[in-house]
Amino acid sequence: AKELGRNNLQVFTEEMADKAHEKLLKQAELRQAIARDEFLLHFQPQVNLETGRVFAAEALLRWRHPERGMISPGDFIPLAEETGLIVPIGDWVLRAACRQCKAWHEDGLPLLIVSVNVSARQFRERNWAAHVAAVLAEVGLEPRFLELELTESLIMQDVPGALATMHELEAIGVHLAIDDFGTGYSSLSALKRFPVRRLKIDRSFVEDIPADVDDKAITAAIISLAQNLGLRVIAEGVETQAQVEFLRHSGCDEIQGYFFSRPLASAEFEALLRQTDVN
Ligand code: C2E
Ligand code: CA
Ligand code: CA
Ligand code: CA
Repeated sequence: AKELGRNNLQVFTEEMADKAHEKLLKQAELRQAIARDEFLLHFQPQVNLETGRVFAAEALLRWRHPERGMISPGDFIPLAEETGLIVPIGDWVLRAACRQCKAWHEDGLPLLIVSVNVSARQFRERNWAAHVAAVLAEVGLEPRFLELELTESLIMQDVPGALATMHELEAIGVHLAIDDFGTGYSSLSALKRFPVRRLKIDRSFVEDIPADVDDKAITAAIISLAQNLGLRVIAEGVETQAQVEFLRHSGCDEIQGYFFSRPLASAEFEALLRQTDVN
């Protein structure tokens, strides 16, 4: 038994060393990914439920790894956040998303909004709002075509600090949305003071509609909360007709999810815009 124990311990430490080594390797690769041009954006349409029109595209980051193929953000964003690499990566995303949006506008496609995810590390950079304004000016995109998605937890980590930056962004003319809404705890009184335009109902509430009575109640409550505060409300992760019916019936303004379209490469997104009469 003693023997076995020692062997187990050895296996265990080897495994840990492997894991640590793998993490360092991944970190080094992540550090070089921008310079090697390995990142790209996919775009997922956001659709108005009343008109059926696409009005915005959420930019979603992908990493095309030379050996491991396409890697989803869930598999590298946590490491990027831990190491601070999310700041230059997020900056690449912001610039690339604004450039793509501007290119679509110049191509005569409908004047869509581009929606960009923001991480806490990035948002808390000094003078971040001024930096966003500089990127918009450099790209030549009007601020009203950019929406930044902030999570509830990002805001709640430091409400006064977040509010100050949010007001600066609002003054620039950029729009704000609260992502994954319902999963954190923004107090309702705080919510009233946030200069946001849109709440995004988290997918975890949408996925079990219509089977889960509680999720239906929560979703309906978020929709009426948004209505009462004069905010727009979008449901994410919408996959089925039954979910669409429930959301429409509850007064939800907009949807995003596989039901309408998966996130698409920019050329595919463009083709979708040309084929569906979005105007
Ligand atoms: P998120 O912001 O909540 O983005 C929505 C995620 O749900 C995306 O996953 C999207 O592909 C997926 N999704 C959309 N519709 C459906 C659906 O109908 N069913 C299901 N099951 N999933 C759906 P993705 O692209 O893997 O991104 C995961 C998360 O990674 C994002 O969640 C966001 O938190 C983060 N992320 C993505 N891009 C960026 C970025 O540029 N910067 C930062 N900071 N985070 C990012
Ligand atoms: Ca998002
Ligand atoms: Ca989400
Ligand atoms: Ca659920």
